[in-house]
Amino acid sequence: MATTAATLAVRNPRTGSADHTITLATAEEVAAKAAVLRENQRGWEAMGVGGRCAVMARWLGAVKAQAMAIGEADAVDTGGCHTSYVQGFITMGNIGGWLEDAPKAFAALEWQSMSTSMPTVEVESQVVAYPLVGVISPWNAPLMLALLDAVPALFAGSAVLLKPSEVTPRVIEALFETVRQVPELAAVFDYVTGAGDIGQAVIGQADTICFTGSVPTGRKVAVACAERLIPCNLELGGKDPCIVTESADLDRAATAVLRGAVYATGQVCYSVERVYVHASVHDEFVALLVDKAEKVRLNADNPRAGLIGPFTFAPQADIVMRHIADAKAKGATVLTGGEVEELGGGLYLRPTVLTGVNHEMEIMQDETFGPCIPVMAYGDVEEAIRLANDTHFGLTASVIAGTAEEAKAIGKRINAGGIFLNDTFLTFAKMRTFGSDSFGWSGYGSPRIGPESIRRFLRRKSLLTQTGPVADIQDDHHLGPKTGAPK
Ligand code: NAD
Repeated sequence: MATTAATLAVRNPRTGSADHTITLATAEEVAAKAAVLRENQRGWEAMGVGGRCAVMARWLGAVKAQAMAIGEADAVDTGGCHTSYVQGFITMGNIGGWLEDAPKAFAALEWQSMSTSMPTVEVESQVVAYPLVGVISPWNAPLMLALLDAVPALFAGSAVLLKPSEVTPRVIEALFETVRQVPELAAVFDYVTGAGDIGQAVIGQADTICFTGSVPTGRKVAVACAERLIPCNLELGGKDPCIVTESADLDRAATAVLRGAVYATGQVCYSVERVYVHASVHDEFVALLVDKAEKVRLNADNPRAGLIGPFTFAPQADIVMRHIADAKAKGATVLTGGEVEELGGGLYLRPTVLTGVNHEMEIMQDETFGPCIPVMAYGDVEEAIRLANDTHFGLTASVIAGTAEEAKAIGKRINAGGIFLNDTFLTFAKMRTFGSDSFGWSGYGSPRIGPESIRRFLRRKSLLTQTGPVADIQDDHHLGPKTGAPK
């Protein structure tokens, strides 16, 4: 007897009403899709990097034709946070970058030479892709974070099964309209819809997992991967600090801190989440920050005008309010913002500046993921560095000082993967030739940009050919050159 597929109603962050439905996959469907992808992957890998680049270039053309529609879907999913509308164009830029990087990723790995220790043995490398990569992605920046792992894996020659967030499915549907226009790609790139159970089902099928999301879920993913003895890349949360020194241009610092903390309603893994300001300039900095924060407009009337959109995921508003309430209960002062407003069904929070905070408060320890800016005074640079490093996280950090040298000297002592000097939020300015790693609870995994982002899906094999005589069982020349050590 046929069973009716289960569905999930999806909330619209601007209206608060459920205006979209997804059909939930079952574990059996995940297994069936995985089997098809695994079968098709052999041909995809055999195509070679040049053949795959030709297919991906055609896909880039399809994305270009749909870039506006993709951006619209992203804006509905996220509530129209700031740059949602250009996500289709950002995706095009990223695919174009990987098109250049892909041949380089392979060039460095393919070689053939004679053994250095056994002169008659020829050594040749073979590079093979993990057949099936599982990607599990979050609701913030839902398109970019679904593709940052999936696309380099495809260039590597892997097939990809994506499990996007159930909170933001519309943009993935728009994306896959472009994938279906390129049959060779559609044969090796597919997605399944559902919540955590379907994420687990993907882990049950894949050869390696790329997960982006929260620390608690990341732990569960790591455990499930460990059970299967498959590798996983984890990109988790942050509690990114910003240090403002006594010598800093305070107006510049306030502008940079505000942008870094409230961009996309603070729902960015590398948002500025805590600020340390030298005590001698604390009050002046805070006055400038509050003044600028109060001028930031919500975009409730028009998603394209105003900088602060609604919370994408309604329960996130509760987490943010819990952090604010905990800080207030422990003695913090809210200077501006601080109350969630319901406008047209969406949940909004204006930039919220807090002072009188300390490390006993959740708002200084746990990821807030909202437009909150807790500011704490410090006495000297040693204290500032100690406070910045007093965290389990280590994604990014910022230092704003009077000179680049002063900022760099402090930045080199902070435990985080990306250190932004005399500005915040410089993640997109990294060179494509190298990336950076996360520290602590912010996860582990190779860089997601440049040729290295592709190489992490490749395994190297060595083929060793004996071109000389085979060693007799009595000989020891098969052990390599004599060391001169006594027998
Ligand atoms: P989340 O951990 O709740 O969910 C992420 C994904 O995991 C979703 O697709 C979800 O359905 C799935 N999932 C849930 N339970 C699962 C389970 N038991 N097994 C397998 N999959 C499961 O994260 P979120 O709330 O969607 O995203 C926000 C978080 O992501 C924040 O903590 C943020 O800092 C983090 N993030 C990190 C980066 C980075 O690059 N480091 C980037 C963006 C977001």
